Amino acid sequence: MRDTGLLQVALGLGSPWQVTACDFDAKAQQLDIRLDFPAGSRFTCPHCGATACPVHDTDTTTWRHLNFFQHQAYLHARVPRIRCDACGVRKIDVPWARRDSGFTLLFEAYLMAMLGAMPVAQVADMVGEHDTRLWRIIHHYVDAARERMDASDVTRVAIDETAAKRGHNYITLFVDIDEARVLFATEGKDAATVASFAKDLAAHQGDADNIKEVCIDMSPAFIKGTADHLPEAEITFDRFHVMKIINQAVDQVRRAEQREQAVLKGTRYLWLRNPNTLSARQAALLDSLPSQTLKTARAYQIKLAFQELYQQKTPKKAAAFLKRWYFWATHSRLPPIIEAARTIRQHQSGVLRWFHSHIANGLIEGINSLVQAAKAKARGYRSLRNLKAIVYLVAGKLELQLPA
Ligand SMILES: [Zn+2]
Repeated sequence: MRDTGLLQVALGLGSPWQVTACDFDAKAQQLDIRLDFPAGSRFTCPHCGATACPVHDTDTTTWRHLNFFQHQAYLHARVPRIRCDACGVRKIDVPWARRDSGFTLLFEAYLMAMLGAMPVAQVADMVGEHDTRLWRIIHHYVDAARERMDASDVTRVAIDETAAKRGHNYITLFVDIDEARVLFATEGKDAATVASFAKDLAAHQGDADNIKEVCIDMSPAFIKGTADHLPEAEITFDRFHVMKIINQAVDQVRRAEQREQAVLKGTRYLWLRNPNTLSARQAALLDSLPSQTLKTARAYQIKLAFQELYQQKTPKKAAAFLKRWYFWATHSRLPPIIEAARTIRQHQSGVLRWFHSHIANGLIEGINSLVQAAKAKARGYRSLRNLKAIVYLVAGKLELQLPA
């Protein structure tokens, strides 16, 4: 190709850089663009900013660039080391790539755009690069963006754990409820995760004392972590976790009763759902059961009644409702239900806090689905560090500052 001027413009190269050659290898389906600078060119010191430093020597380097149609494209250039009066011999920064990256900035921007939308392994396949190279880029941009992150306005936080790999490893997520963004992700699900969060908050202009509301499940670890490290926070127990405790109790009642009552076979999901979400067939099945005599049906009624708690109009009415429900549940003669009721009673203040805070983890818009999407994108992620980076990338609302 002779018209290297076109490439010069397309690459946005400024003086003294010039496109000196461009070779297309049809067999290898590869485009190689060679850049150089005229003899006697002077460069700015990357360390102190001194201008017009002479070239000491050069080191030929290659960067992968955006594809030329379907063909891979590479830039090659002699990168000068300059001699600065103040700093000595230094390698300069080229305008088209980050220091020590094997990709141009534009190629990285293209990769990051894809990585926000597709699994890492799939992007790696598409561009024909090893995924470890892509992970390095993700970490660079995510780390840099997290360094700029501002948490000074954060006052309400949801804390939730998610299983990383087949339930063995966990990461705990700290979500800014008002901005619906993941602020912090860390390994484990113990009280120490909250200490790490408080520290991370302080590193981003936030303050643990600013956190006034926290939404968690009833795990003793999160309760203790909040009390120790977020001392100003009121706890709301996530209503979906509270319901889960009751659903588990209903299921225990069913399992025990099923041994004697064959009619309960295949009914597990009936009792875990609400009547209005049943299919016509399931509703008919439910109607056909001898609900007057089944313990499971009684447990189910107590569960449905508990859901009405959240329909109460005032905190006072809610407290009175919970008291009546507790009396009913603890007189049900159904041990799993009695135990669930006692658990809820013990955590009463955090259950009722909902009537002031109206926060629930499941209600934070899109976060759960984003985290699930992140886990899918990170499939084969090799390390929890990689998983955390993807969570930040898709759910952190970070400003990545990619080249346009
Ligand atoms: Zn210098």
